[in-house]
Amino acid sequence: ASGYSLLRDPHHNKGLSFSEKERDAHFLRGLLPPVVISQELQIKKMMHNFRQYQVPLQRYMAMMDLQEMNERLFYKLLIDNVEELLPVVYTPTVGEACQKYGCIFKRPQGLFISLKEKGRILEVLKNWPQRKIQVIVVTDGERILGLGDLGCQGMGIPVGKLSLYTALGGIRPSAEYAELLHEFMTAVKQNYGEKFEDFANHNAFDLLAKYGNTHLVFNDDIQGTASVVLAGLMAALKLVGGTLAEHTFLFLGAGEAGTGIAELIALEMSKQTDAPLEESRKKIWLVDSKGLIVNSRMETLQQFKKPWAHEHEPVEELVDAVKAIKPTVLIGSSGAGRTFTKEVIEAMASFNEKPIILALSNPTSQSECTAEEAYTWSQGRAIFASGSPFGPVEYNGKVYVSGQANNAYIFPGFGLGLIISGAIRVHDDMLLAASEALAAEVSQDNFDKGLIYPPFSNIRKISAHIASEVAAKAYELGLATRLPQPENLVAYAESCMYSPSYRSYR
Ligand code: NAP
Ligand code: MN
Repeated sequence: ASGYSLLRDPHHNKGLSFSEKERDAHFLRGLLPPVVISQELQIKKMMHNFRQYQVPLQRYMAMMDLQEMNERLFYKLLIDNVEELLPVVYTPTVGEACQKYGCIFKRPQGLFISLKEKGRILEVLKNWPQRKIQVIVVTDGERILGLGDLGCQGMGIPVGKLSLYTALGGIRPSAEYAELLHEFMTAVKQNYGEKFEDFANHNAFDLLAKYGNTHLVFNDDIQGTASVVLAGLMAALKLVGGTLAEHTFLFLGAGEAGTGIAELIALEMSKQTDAPLEESRKKIWLVDSKGLIVNSRMETLQQFKKPWAHEHEPVEELVDAVKAIKPTVLIGSSGAGRTFTKEVIEAMASFNEKPIILALSNPTSQSECTAEEAYTWSQGRAIFASGSPFGPVEYNGKVYVSGQANNAYIFPGFGLGLIISGAIRVHDDMLLAASEALAAEVSQDNFDKGLIYPPFSNIRKISAHIASEVAAKAYELGLATRLPQPENLVAYAESCMYSPSYRSYR
């Protein structure tokens, strides 16, 4: 290969960091200015350029360009500046990127599988150049963040999730849909691990039930979200006191995220109290677009909502549900922005010393309330976290920092745990293990600021701990195939992690 093409190969390009010897050995003489700089200096320059862009979408495009130009630099930049760059390659900016994907598309970063490819999916998969693939993120694009059906433009999401993952089917639900998906699942079954993402709930639960026992699949919106929220609640309990079972939960939004979280909370409650799952569920209430989910609505409820119908008179409005149920924890998983109104939050603050309020919906425009609203309307007493990040808020002379309740804490480490143990299935106990591992990473210093999640700057270390706990659970449950079990799983997880530092080419 020529030096010229080496500079255009994102997997091997190092730009100005090619050493003098490498320039000689790989025909690079004259193609680069006569200076050699370190990867660290490249990072500084890139960040300097990057910060010139004031428009978030331009920052997103700059990141995508870097990934196409120099992959290691892209990942190193992302890892070293994760708090600044995550909101660009992930929520909220990735949402805007998806909405405008048709205008900014340059080169494929994943596979598009449409009905045109039906019967030929195996052939399509072979068009992707890499052969060794460990994780695939699949979306049908039908429910991208809280933004609705974006079709094939939803590609931004799997790509954005750190670009570790590949395939997508940008298609509408139909009988052919099931067949197409089945062909896809069969085609990838033998070599790959898979992860579902951003499917609409009328398909997501069925798909998980259909493939969960035969494939190594994980629905991030149902399971990843549940795990990250449970972790936040475990941490929050250290601030407010009481056990899970002593709290009362109210959700706005009873879809994939809401019912997924509710079920994992109930599962953990039952583990702690030995009470049957049905008992634990009674501490958890959900509101959907038609109001509180109660027994009298049973006949018309979708299957996945039925376990959450409890005995109560019908209540239409959230604020009335809050006043009637008097929850200690209010969770927004509706995709409907600004639904935690002043009245709702004031009600929460009227019967809770420290109301726990989680506004999970993404992107920022869909957040049930802002950090500022949560703190102001609760007179600074709320314990607040949100799906998309908010900056610090000053209220009455005190600065409040809110955490990000986002599945990005869980899925990378969770996936790593599955891979290093060679897990053959995802088990709910692994999700609980991941929650505990994440909650354990919240330091006293974080708590003192009111945070119930650790900062993202430590995400690599956090992921290693989550991976090790997930792997340990896989071994314990007999679901691991990488034998023997490594003695020190944290160290092993760390040793398996990708390092974006340059290698020298000899
Ligand atoms: P989903 O399955 O479509 O569920 C949405 C639910 O919200 C449905 O139950 C719907 O009611 C209800 N709803 C919608 N508008 C409402 C309104 N104005 N008032 C009351 N209820 C309303 O969607 P999902 O997958 O659960 O995702 C929902 C949101 O969670 C999205 O914005 C997504 O970005 C966010 N999310 C965040 C994370 C994170 O890590 N922070 C992870 C996953 C998802 P009906 O059932 O009656 O239609
Ligand atoms: Mn998602």
